[in-house]
Amino acid sequence: MSYRMLIGGKLTHAEDGATRKVVNPFNGKVVAEVPEASLNDVDAAVRAARKAFDGGDWPNMTAQQRGRILFRIAELVRKNLPKLARLETLNVGKPIVESEFDMNDTATCYEYYGGLATKITGLTAPVPDNAISITLREPVGVCALIVPWNYPLMLAAWKLAPALAAGCTVILKPAEQTPLTTLEFGRLLQELKLPPGVINIVQGAGETVGSALVNHKEVDKVAFTGGTETGRAIIKGAAASNLKKVTLELGGKSPNIFFEDADLEASVDGALFGLFINQGEVCSAGSRILVQRSLHKKFMKRLLEKAKLIRLGDPMDRKTKMGPLVTEEHRDKVLSYIQIGIEEGAKLVAGGKAPKSAVLRKGFYVEPTIFDEVKNSMRIAQEEIFGPVVVVIPFKNEDEAVAIANDTPYGLAGAVWSRDIFRALRVARKIRAGIMWVNTMQPCYVEAPWGGYKQSGAGRELGPHGIDEYLETKQLHINLNENPIGWY
Ligand code: NAD
Repeated sequence: MSYRMLIGGKLTHAEDGATRKVVNPFNGKVVAEVPEASLNDVDAAVRAARKAFDGGDWPNMTAQQRGRILFRIAELVRKNLPKLARLETLNVGKPIVESEFDMNDTATCYEYYGGLATKITGLTAPVPDNAISITLREPVGVCALIVPWNYPLMLAAWKLAPALAAGCTVILKPAEQTPLTTLEFGRLLQELKLPPGVINIVQGAGETVGSALVNHKEVDKVAFTGGTETGRAIIKGAAASNLKKVTLELGGKSPNIFFEDADLEASVDGALFGLFINQGEVCSAGSRILVQRSLHKKFMKRLLEKAKLIRLGDPMDRKTKMGPLVTEEHRDKVLSYIQIGIEEGAKLVAGGKAPKSAVLRKGFYVEPTIFDEVKNSMRIAQEEIFGPVVVVIPFKNEDEAVAIANDTPYGLAGAVWSRDIFRALRVARKIRAGIMWVNTMQPCYVEAPWGGYKQSGAGRELGPHGIDEYLETKQLHINLNENPIGWY
């Protein structure tokens, strides 16, 4: 398979012909070659986006027109859903059923922001003079959208849909490990005959192509999802170049808190789903299970029974519940964390290694892994592992649960399980995180905001908050007093 980037409305190879091989994590085989953008390609994409923005092709379209185009993008995704889902699974390794959900959510995101395009409004300020003061919401400008590898096309939509609805033009960069669905999306977009330069797609490594976008003086904003350390580099680059605006969706180490009065079956179910979905490669993964001491024994027995049922296999098989990790390098990183946990003295009670069967050995698999009796100060409880590894930390009472939950540099998400609604809400409010679930974990909707406190990010995606990040606010003051001020 061969793919091209999208620059200034044209599907294109890298100007110097450079390419990168893309690997199927299920068997380590090369499945495609994709262009690797040069710095000139990045510059051409930024200039195309700049021209489409400054020339007004996109921002001057009516909101209704932009909204309709977003609905057509959603249709395009729905029409090609099976193909895009298969491509996502081929490249990321996630089970096909999960990829189908992702593609559906991708289309829904374009529909939501297609609708929101016509609902962007300002306010009238009651100023104490004979004047009208109103606000106009205007697009931020040219936006660089930088996406990670765990939900490639869906996380691209979380940025692209609100950016387009707001009237911005964009340069989208997928993660270099997983560019296939994004490049295929670029090819499909040609059907819509959008004005050239509104959506540009460049492919390449973070340190070169990503960094060139972040440091480019003609880019007005960068919207980034990825690791916290990369986020730090992005703030620095954005500040040093032209103080471009930045939104960041970063890592997490989210607590999933179970009190003794919670429903046992639902809790165990939520503990497993909260972490092992998408092989644990989820920013909001409930990677720290906090369980009340009085419930601990019963909870662990059931957790281990049910964890055994997670079926690893070919991600294209509809019965598979867990696929391989995204790359060999990432698999090795996850395995090294398991070793760290053992050395720190945590009790390994499930998994802990790469599976040995003839089929799975060819892919980048790690068994669903559970550590018990973990101390929150251990590295496996503090650092984001981003794989199928969960730590269980017992606690005595509510105060201790809250203290442990908040003892982390991260603040993306968390969940609390209890039949006592007063306790559940009390705890949910005390956790310093951008998303808190009560008696569930992981549901995510395009209608509701997503983002982190502390070192999990800055700004919000999704919901009405998501579009604000792509809008400037202009105050327009209209004087109604015909006489001069008469100050001098
Ligand atoms: P990463 O930070 O390595 O890469 C993310 C993207 O940034 C890639 O496109 C990469 O090419 C690019 N990049 C890397 N270095 C760059 C640089 N110096 N300048 C500009 N761009 C650069 O992250 P990853 O390993 O792809 O993804 C996993 C991380 O993403 C995890 O930490 C996870 O928690 C986080 N994540 C967060 C959310 C959220 O909503 N908060 C969602 C998904 C993933």
